[in-house]
Amino acid sequence: MRILVVEDEPTLSAQLVQAIADAGHTVERAHDGREAHYLGEVEEFDAVVLDLGLPVLDGLTVLRRWRAAGRNMPVLILTARSAWQEKVAGIDAGADDYLAKPFHMEELLARLRALLRRGGEHASAEWQCGSITLDTRQARVLVAGQALSLTSHEFKLLAQLMQRKGQVLSRTELSEHLYAFDSDRDSNTIEVFVGRLRKKLPSGSIETVRGLGYRLVDPGAVAP
Ligand code: CA
Repeated sequence: MRILVVEDEPTLSAQLVQAIADAGHTVERAHDGREAHYLGEVEEFDAVVLDLGLPVLDGLTVLRRWRAAGRNMPVLILTARSAWQEKVAGIDAGADDYLAKPFHMEELLARLRALLRRGGEHASAEWQCGSITLDTRQARVLVAGQALSLTSHEFKLLAQLMQRKGQVLSRTELSEHLYAFDSDRDSNTIEVFVGRLRKKLPSGSIETVRGLGYRLVDPGAVAP
């Protein structure tokens, strides 16, 4: 696979390139945002590891520009530890996963493997809950026949809830599915995404079960 590593810190950049190359991939590197943006726009990559704090052009802007231009390769962002707002901003900008610095190289490689695997997945199923229909093949959601505009994270979150509708999913379970790995869980981000998803769905679709988590229900169904 061909991977782009964008990191301005020379030591970390060299370590990333070495580890990813050792894992059997071809690695290209960029050291600032402008170079990264150019490479990601004109060349094909199977995945990108993107630091957010970059000279010339910051990582969020680079990512937004790629997505706006229809570049949809999987992107793993590197964020500052504990800055959950930065994670939300990164995911909004189109990141597929994030990893907070400092991290273990093994974890980065594991997340990269997960992203590359997901990139090759071709699921096909249609799930229904009340007036909500989720088509996994086309990654599309309809409410009463009308297409709903969701971010990729809102879609993944709804897919988890729909797959197990009527059951309570804890924030931990949801974040595990959302981020592929269970370390660096951040329940704040789950709350933010559930809040946004709720506003787009028929009122009452996502129930909060105090102390336990969330449950997707059909608000139109008659209670037993
Ligand atoms: Ca940096």
